Amino acid sequence: MSNMMLINGKWIGLSEGKPSTGVINPATEEVFKHIPQADADDIKLAVDAASDAFKPWSSLSYAQRGEYLKKAASIVYERSNEIGRLMTMEMGKPLAEAVGEVEKASKALLYYAEEGERVYGRIISDQSRSFQSHVSYYPVGPVAAIIPWNYPIELLAWKACAALTAGCTMVIKPASITPLSSSAFCRCLTDAGLPDGVINLVFGSGSVIGKYLISDKRIKKVAFTGSTEVGKKIVQQCAVNMTKYSAELGGHCPMIVGQSADIDTAASDAARRSFRNMGQICIAINRIYVHSSIHDSFVEKLKVKTEELVIGDSLKTEGVNLGPMADKNGLLKIKDQIKDALSKGAVCVTGGSAPENQAKGFFFKPTILTNVNHNMLLMKEESFGPIVGIMPFDTTEEAVELANDTNYGLAAYVQSNDYYETEYFIENLSAGNIAVNNPDAGVMNAPYGGWNDSGDGYEHGPEGLFGYLKIKHIRKRIRKS
Ligand code: NAP
Ligand code: MG
Repeated sequence: MSNMMLINGKWIGLSEGKPSTGVINPATEEVFKHIPQADADDIKLAVDAASDAFKPWSSLSYAQRGEYLKKAASIVYERSNEIGRLMTMEMGKPLAEAVGEVEKASKALLYYAEEGERVYGRIISDQSRSFQSHVSYYPVGPVAAIIPWNYPIELLAWKACAALTAGCTMVIKPASITPLSSSAFCRCLTDAGLPDGVINLVFGSGSVIGKYLISDKRIKKVAFTGSTEVGKKIVQQCAVNMTKYSAELGGHCPMIVGQSADIDTAASDAARRSFRNMGQICIAINRIYVHSSIHDSFVEKLKVKTEELVIGDSLKTEGVNLGPMADKNGLLKIKDQIKDALSKGAVCVTGGSAPENQAKGFFFKPTILTNVNHNMLLMKEESFGPIVGIMPFDTTEEAVELANDTNYGLAAYVQSNDYYETEYFIENLSAGNIAVNNPDAGVMNAPYGGWNDSGDGYEHGPEGLFGYLKIKHIRKRIRKS
């Protein structure tokens, strides 16, 4: 069931005679399921369906649409184990984290189910008392949502919750690595009674079918999360029809550990945010700058925390913290970055190789490198893997200069117990999200977006919802003179 696409309320499996492709379990490197692939005709049918469904769906009140989302939230929650298991099998994250991700998607549905009722317009007084301006909001129209594989359900849910609440309909294209959990999630929405065509799900390689979706004039917004490279291509394609877009792109996130920081907290937060999900998170910590007076003790504590992390296949072993990487290319990229750094003088404090006890699968030990500099790939290029480089600094100005030495601007992390130093970092770090003395830069009810090469637009919070709305300004004569 989970290997089916959805077009206009009809679930489409392999029996429809479409070309198929395999889904690989990264812990075993084996294909465990096949899925059908959409072609240009399927994309057209999906956009037809989303266009036809737009009028009736957008004509409902926010409260009515909210009822569908609330019902879907409870179904998603009930099926969180089943959906989480599919996610672990297709992209490798530990089962408990996969289930937790699905539960968070359920909460996102509840949050936006309520947030819709808080879309208020404005009344603006004119220079003349005879006139008044009204500002009201309308859904942008059918949306194409293109999703990556690293948080396949949360990233799909954020878009679906906000778009559906706003009154938009959708064609969703999950990453090729993670079709199954996406399909199981969409089934929760249809089982909640969502009318046919309001959401559609198509499988296929983004570089092949993406263009059909984006270039269709009836698509009024492209909501993209993925790499900066693909994001820039999509933005160019959107320009052709002036299609709105939101782009949540890559990152290369710094952490600064000031002299006054609590070193234990800094080390455990660094271990979590550098290595969770095998570093395959856009807001992963890639570079750590530590005040030189505490550099060595921080490195030692982070090494201990890192070596405590249990690597394995969570579907076979209890207590696993780190699964395999999601695909082989990711593994090759970090091996290249490590080789490059070592050849330029870096020191490997821990990790640097695959664990000895895993014969198969894209497993790798979390890796800490010191003696690094900004001429090394890992300090510039998004790693999207379990490696982190650590450098000492002496002054707050130097720390900020090093942290901002990137084209990305997604998240930055600060560990400091000095009030004025912390304020200096907050003021001067160039990133859309700053986490101070904690490792989590995003929460559901506050805006989340990147600066510079990390994207344009917001998810989460009211800002996420308003990204699916357009403004109508009405200037009214309200008095005869
Ligand atoms: P990706 O290669 O950019 O792919 C993302 C999505 O775009 C996938 O569904 C992919 O389909 C599709 N796609 C690929 N080429 C396309 C094209 N030419 N036209 C239309 N769609 C296309 O990214 P990824 O490897 O899946 O994910 C990792 C990246 O996502 C990292 O750079 C990470 O930083 C970023 N990310 C950002 C955020 C954020 O919030 N800022 C969150 C998570 C991840 P296929 O799978 O079929 O190729
Ligand atoms: Mg990719």
